[in-house]
Amino acid sequence: MSEAEQPPTVDSGHLFDAPTALPAVRVLVDGLSDMVLDYAVPPGMQVQRGCRVEVPLRSRQTTGTVLTLVEEQHDYTLKPLLRLIEEEPVVSSTLMDLAEWAAAYYAAPVEQMLRCIVPEPVRRERHDEKTRKFVRLLRRPTDDELNKINVRAPRRAAILRYLMGSEDEGEFLSTLGGPPALAPCRALVELGLISMEERTVHRDPAGTETFAPSVPLTLNDDQRQALDVILEAFGNGNTKPILLQGVTGSGKTEVYLQAAAHVMAQGKGVLILVPEISLTPQTMARFKSRFAEQPGAVAILHSAMSDGERFDEWHSIRRGRARIAIGPRSALFAPVTNLGLIIVDEEHDSSYKQENSPRYHGRDLAVMRARMEGATIVLGSATPSLESILNARRGKYQLVRMDKRADDRRLPLTRVLDMRSEPKDKRYLGILSERLRSALEERLHKGEQSILLLNRRGFARALQCPDCGHVVTCEHCALPLTYHLTENRLVCHICGYRAVVPERCPECNSRGILLEGYGTQKVETVLKRCFPEARICRVDADVTARKNALRNILADFRAHSIDILLGTQMISKGLDFPGVTLVGVLNADLGLCVPDPRAAERTFQLLTQVAGRAGRGEIEGEVIIQTFSPQAAAIQFARRHDTDGFADNELGLREKFAFPPFSHLAVLTVRSEHEETAAFALSTLHKRLLEVLPPQVEISEPLPAPLPKAYGQFRFQCVLKAKRVRIISEIVSAEISRLSPGDSVTVTLDVDAYNFM
Ligand code: ADP
Ligand code: ZN
Ligand code: ZN
Repeated sequence: MSEAEQPPTVDSGHLFDAPTALPAVRVLVDGLSDMVLDYAVPPGMQVQRGCRVEVPLRSRQTTGTVLTLVEEQHDYTLKPLLRLIEEEPVVSSTLMDLAEWAAAYYAAPVEQMLRCIVPEPVRRERHDEKTRKFVRLLRRPTDDELNKINVRAPRRAAILRYLMGSEDEGEFLSTLGGPPALAPCRALVELGLISMEERTVHRDPAGTETFAPSVPLTLNDDQRQALDVILEAFGNGNTKPILLQGVTGSGKTEVYLQAAAHVMAQGKGVLILVPEISLTPQTMARFKSRFAEQPGAVAILHSAMSDGERFDEWHSIRRGRARIAIGPRSALFAPVTNLGLIIVDEEHDSSYKQENSPRYHGRDLAVMRARMEGATIVLGSATPSLESILNARRGKYQLVRMDKRADDRRLPLTRVLDMRSEPKDKRYLGILSERLRSALEERLHKGEQSILLLNRRGFARALQCPDCGHVVTCEHCALPLTYHLTENRLVCHICGYRAVVPERCPECNSRGILLEGYGTQKVETVLKRCFPEARICRVDADVTARKNALRNILADFRAHSIDILLGTQMISKGLDFPGVTLVGVLNADLGLCVPDPRAAERTFQLLTQVAGRAGRGEIEGEVIIQTFSPQAAAIQFARRHDTDGFADNELGLREKFAFPPFSHLAVLTVRSEHEETAAFALSTLHKRLLEVLPPQVEISEPLPAPLPKAYGQFRFQCVLKAKRVRIISEIVSAEISRLSPGDSVTVTLDVDAYNFM
């Protein structure tokens, strides 16, 4: 986020200090994108900004959130509000400001931002948790019975099937669809299949898991210094972000824990953001343990929780019972009262960027929230984003470093293995080098554990030579060119440069220039063939789609009932397993072959993070990185754990090409089932934009996206670049709404895009 992006001036605050009710309010009506209507406030009703209200809409009634109070009312025909659902505003004034700021910045409807702030179960549930209906299965219907019910009343059958498939003893009505589920549930009660009762259970997403209390560790000098800086900023109410750059294993979490304890002892609230909670269960567990003596002090928020759990945790935070909220990106909107400290762990992680609308960046909004609330904010990482590194170098962030592992263990020895010189052994299908194979064998003999990482290939088809590692790149942007089948050309997605597809590698003249991809399943097959005795477990998106699957696998790995853990990026995050002495990266360079200005940064971060998983116990760790491009800067700097060296090198390149963090990029995408429709809509929009955009904004020509078709829709896109993001957001979103391309076309603008597919 650049300096120019200041928080909005809060000019409406004085209106709401007045205790008397004002004549009218502007309400954002639920369920309709950005439908804003004015309503009269009936005498005696104390409405504030952020309150939830019931309003008339045509012949029915619905709910909404009060956006602003309208000072003067001229229209005497305004319909009155029906009811104030709760006197207390459900959204604080600061969060309302944040939502409005974010909506403008990311060119998203305010309504969508508010949806993030007030989660679905909270919006849907109108009554207090004390009166919540809980539904339980009494008897499993036979298949025959179920079929019969399905024919007559599919909703009832759906509810039954849901209850039968649930691992829990029952569900709150809200989980089953809220009020509309009431009638079918009553019918099922009549049939004697289910029971329905009123319940007041606070459902804890950590479930029955118990957490043994942990005591604060004695900090080492680096940690002490980091904690001092944080507490000093907190003491002074300084909101300048603190960038905590600490190598993997330097003990950042302990610093977070002690900072949180201090802030909490001062009566203030704490917000902790983690990349993806199911991938970082240890962070959650460490907080639960440290504060185990204050039951309920730590609340967890994330989307995989049931509605009931989310409802309870959210309210527990809002009422100030829970003083620490932990969750992934969306938790940044948690209604923590009297917020004192925000921690963004692994701040570089791309999962902080939401990939569907509203496409906000959780870290950047957290920085903004801290500024608005006067809270201290800490961004922590071993491999900070170049955005944050540049901010620190420019003095906008305060840098604190922790360069040693907390236990004085050395960082693991990292070898880069050149796959171009590897004999093409049919048995291993070019997946396992001999060096990595024997290293795995050695660990199995010694009873030590290994992690194997497969870089996810992505969808883009860049050309890489398997013999020399050469990747065909753009002359102007130095990014890999993407192969387009339809025109049989290589195309640059940032500037539009085109090249013919070489028949032979321009570097080594080899003919085999298209690289074959492979997935985790194929690797698993090869591993099982190599090591029939080994206990191998695969973790990828297929496996983790099952509830609790990842948690169970990680518990098994910790208990050492798995020897080799094989997985994609998701196993590189924040895990701390003392038994792991070997980490192998199967295809380090695939992440480099994508047309994305952050490809090198991501690869560097991934390799450094995954290497940090090795050697956390008594025995020193080893890391083997297999690659076709051993000279790539991302790989060489990762081998030396050299974040600063990488940043110097990469920032130089980014500046040269005016890429982020020296500019903002936005991706404009048009999707449609019909190829021509999408192409036409984008080219129309593009022509308009060329006319209206000021010269400071660069816009690429419209092209099929690197991922040209997905979910049955053709995708076309162009990339916009500017120093100031607001110009893009304002002008492009205005043009999009002017275009009115019809129902069969979807137009999206991704501001500060992280995904160029
Ligand atoms: P990071 O989050 O920086 O990767 P962790 O917080 O996971 O590092 O710490 C790595 C290991 O070091 C953990 O096992 C942790 O318990 C231990 N550790 C952290 N601080 C200390 C300390 N001051 N003294 C001893 N061990 C520590
Ligand atoms: Zn070659
Ligand atoms: Zn280019």
